[in-house]
Amino acid sequence: MRGAVLYGPRDVRFEEREVPKIIKPTDAIIRISATCVCGSDLWPYRGINPIPQPTPMGHEYCGIVEEVGSAVTSIKPGQFVIGSFFASDNNCPNCQIGYQSSCQHKEFVGDAQAPVVRIPLANGTLVATPDVPSADMIPSLLTLSDVMGTGWFAATDIVPERGDEAVARVKDLTAGIGADSVLECVGTHESMAQAIRSTRPGGSVGYVGVPHGVELNGEKLFYAHVHLHGGPAPVRRYLPELIDLVWNGKINPGKVFDLTLPLDQVAEGYRAMDERRAIKTLLRP
Ligand SMILES: [Zn+2]
Ligand SMILES: [Zn+2]
Repeated sequence: MRGAVLYGPRDVRFEEREVPKIIKPTDAIIRISATCVCGSDLWPYRGINPIPQPTPMGHEYCGIVEEVGSAVTSIKPGQFVIGSFFASDNNCPNCQIGYQSSCQHKEFVGDAQAPVVRIPLANGTLVATPDVPSADMIPSLLTLSDVMGTGWFAATDIVPERGDEAVARVKDLTAGIGADSVLECVGTHESMAQAIRSTRPGGSVGYVGVPHGVELNGEKLFYAHVHLHGGPAPVRRYLPELIDLVWNGKINPGKVFDLTLPLDQVAEGYRAMDERRAIKTLLRP
């Protein structure tokens, strides 16, 4: 099969890779219905994260179960499933309190921009939809693999201004006090500083952007009186609820995709997002 491999800055190739096989009895093999390029894929793509060797790409996926290991009981071949970018057992202490992305046995799923992917810890990781979905529902279901679940972990008002202007705008919206809760979704030093300054004393900052160069000033943080809570979203926790909302037509997060390409044009998918011609690219094998 062929899949996406990152060789260096702005060098994504679609090339021959080994077809994944069951390695452990807890694995499942999924035939991908749709995958996509994530904002966080742009960090290594732009060379901001080093790429020591050619690296398969893709951590957002949904598709049909092709084969399961002998210990997998929660899903079966033929079902349509969605999982998080962190495979999790869903039963260790961290999973049980709802932080599956900190599972004691977590494994990153990082090679999903391909026609077939191996998912470890399939019992805990994958959630099946009630039936095989119609084609038009697949983009929305795919967002539950990361972006929608991550948004769910964070919150809801968007201020387009940046820096001081944004802080002033939030203060305006909140009678000069600051917001009860602010989401930080980018991961830069500026966006984190802006988020903290926009929050009222006693309020909370939820941060879900992967931090790059974020440094916190201890004294400013001390006097800001804000709660900081973040990390990779425990997407797995929200999957059953969000699948239900998509399945019943209550939300349509698939609208986030403004470019759809065949998987073999994955390099153009990255380029379009890098150049901001597209917000998010959906890829079909
Ligand atoms: Zn992602
Ligand atoms: Zn766990």
